[in-house]
Amino acid sequence: MATIISHAVVALTAGKVIPSKIITTQVLIAGMILSMLPDADVITFGLGIPYESPLGHRGITHSFLFALAISFIITMLFQRKQRYDIKAFATVNLFLFISTVSHGILDAMTTGGLGVGFFIPFSDQRFFLPYRPVLVSPIGFENFFSSWGMAVIKCEIKYIWIPCAILIVACRLLIKRTH
Ligand SMILES: [Zn+2]
Repeated sequence: MATIISHAVVALTAGKVIPSKIITTQVLIAGMILSMLPDADVITFGLGIPYESPLGHRGITHSFLFALAISFIITMLFQRKQRYDIKAFATVNLFLFISTVSHGILDAMTTGGLGVGFFIPFSDQRFFLPYRPVLVSPIGFENFFSSWGMAVIKCEIKYIWIPCAILIVACRLLIKRTH
């Protein structure tokens, strides 16, 4: 995995570059939580489920199907209060889907671990992207506060945080110009 903070940074960026008032703070926070949620699968290590299992780490919770399902369910929950029209529903659903699926994509750009099971349950194959600049993050707190952890933070600032910040600023400038 990349660190959970960086996953949330990507979701935050997606929310900020989608030019819609429908992406409220609540929706934005939901997206950030969904971007971190797939790594809840680390509990499967404790349950004795092997990494390479479809139910293991970077398995089903990192798949497109999971992202589709959970983003739709959470959009439905918002819909009960917000009474979205079809366009608003689609915008929120798309944002939550992007937030969730960005997790697996970021993991597929890391240097270590097994690949990501994007197509589980239809295929158990694990994938990496051809471009993998992100150092894999240690699993567990004790490992995180180490020189490895520091190297990961530096790498993620360079390859995730700074590009995200640039993207947000560029979109803001573009929106200002077109208004
Ligand atoms: Zn992950």
